Amino acid sequence: MDFGFDNSFHATMEGFYTPAEAATPPEPKLLAFNAALAERLGLKVDAGDDEAVARVFSGHTVPDGANPLAFAYAGHQFGHFSSQLGDGRALLLGEVVAPDGARFDLQLKGSGPTAFSRNGDGKAAIGPVLREYLVSEAMAAMGVPTTRALAAVATGERVQRERAHPGAVLTRVASSHIRVGTFQFFAAHFGADHVTQLSDYAIRRHFPELAGAANPHLALLDHVIGLQCELVAHWLGVGFIHGVMNTDNVAISGETIDYGPCAFMDRFAVETVFSSIDANGRYAYGRQPQIMHWNMARFAEALLPAIHAVAPDDVERAKELVAAISDRFLGVWFTRMRAKLGLVGAGDEDSALIDRLFGDLETHGIDFTSFFRALAMLLRGDAAMMEAQLPHPDAMAPWIADWWARLESEGIAPLDRAAAMDAVNPLYIPRNHQVEAALGAAEAGDLEPWLALLEVVRNPYTARAEWADYAGPAPAEAAAYTTYCGT
Ligand code: AMP
Ligand code: MG
Repeated sequence: MDFGFDNSFHATMEGFYTPAEAATPPEPKLLAFNAALAERLGLKVDAGDDEAVARVFSGHTVPDGANPLAFAYAGHQFGHFSSQLGDGRALLLGEVVAPDGARFDLQLKGSGPTAFSRNGDGKAAIGPVLREYLVSEAMAAMGVPTTRALAAVATGERVQRERAHPGAVLTRVASSHIRVGTFQFFAAHFGADHVTQLSDYAIRRHFPELAGAANPHLALLDHVIGLQCELVAHWLGVGFIHGVMNTDNVAISGETIDYGPCAFMDRFAVETVFSSIDANGRYAYGRQPQIMHWNMARFAEALLPAIHAVAPDDVERAKELVAAISDRFLGVWFTRMRAKLGLVGAGDEDSALIDRLFGDLETHGIDFTSFFRALAMLLRGDAAMMEAQLPHPDAMAPWIADWWARLESEGIAPLDRAAAMDAVNPLYIPRNHQVEAALGAAEAGDLEPWLALLEVVRNPYTARAEWADYAGPAPAEAAAYTTYCGT
């Protein structure tokens, strides 16, 4: 298979990666292939030949033009700096340029050890592979910037975790795999020249319009901060908890990357944490904006040698950009919340209205996703869905009355407003209990529930009667949900 690879990182960034070679899986078998994404990328894939597709997207056969490599990176993990991480269970096959000119990395995840694997096996188990596939496709369908899943292939071997699981490889598509941790690695080990070279590459690849700025590296910092504010506001808006916002898991493209212990919240609680390893709640739902701010401060530090080399005074500007993140985030967040609430213009009291909403949702333990759909139903004169969310019918009556009054001040037809709300508030998200059931069945050899759930979360906004079971939270008596890190 020839994908027309055009490997700019391999060609121009020698010293920033090591060559890598995939392990040979004994019996590759295609689990899922994202034909729509392949088409968007302009990949010529022999769709009828599952065996050939499985061989290529498991690392068994190296496609023509590939230059497999592992990226070097460092990162702050739970606040502690590791100077040596890197792709330990992933390799870049190569870059493709889509028909619209956009450039993407094709990466195999779980394809065996690399120079960066340390004691790890470089492999992935089927559960986390299908989980990332499903959740990243759900995020894409909701318009959240994200890496994508092109293929999932079972390897035919077992990988040992707390017990043995069937192995699999995920093909991940990203607009690049340059992370905050990539900058940290070259800042820590090499200094200004390397950081400048990496920043120049990132600008050329992602944000060519910044190349003409007086200090392009300062402009990069400013731009990446803007993208991270947008990204985390998106996450909060759909109840998503990334779970492991280490700086090596922050892509400078502004895409969500590294779906490990992530999950969506059902009942609203600002301190919600699902990850088994996040005992202190560092990456809890409501802490994500602060952590994004902290991560951007680390990004600024890593960029400083390059910023300083152009103009020493710009170091002060970089500090100001970091100091301004909280306000910048709030601006983006309120815009997103207004859209969720059907508001168009900005009102003086919106911040208080939004704060009270979150207080009420938490007090009453209301399902975060369903609530916004129920609000839109009120505008259609149908209170049944809202009543089903509330512990007693007037639990949120004062807040709803104030929201209603605020809406009326804008004079837009209620039905138009309801339609606009439904276009930004998903009805179907990957609910934890549904994800667990689907992955359990897949591991036992039955992919049907996973395929069905994938179809649902790819269509998050339009209600369908036959999908009623997918719309609600886990039954109240369900056990607390825990997620685990590795693939
Ligand atoms: P993550 O938790 O996915 O952000 O990974 C953190 C670091 O651990 C990265 O450098 C990974 O490449 C590495 N890593 C995680 N799992 C494995 C594994 N099974 N084998 C080798 N390296 C791994
Ligand atoms: Mg990672």
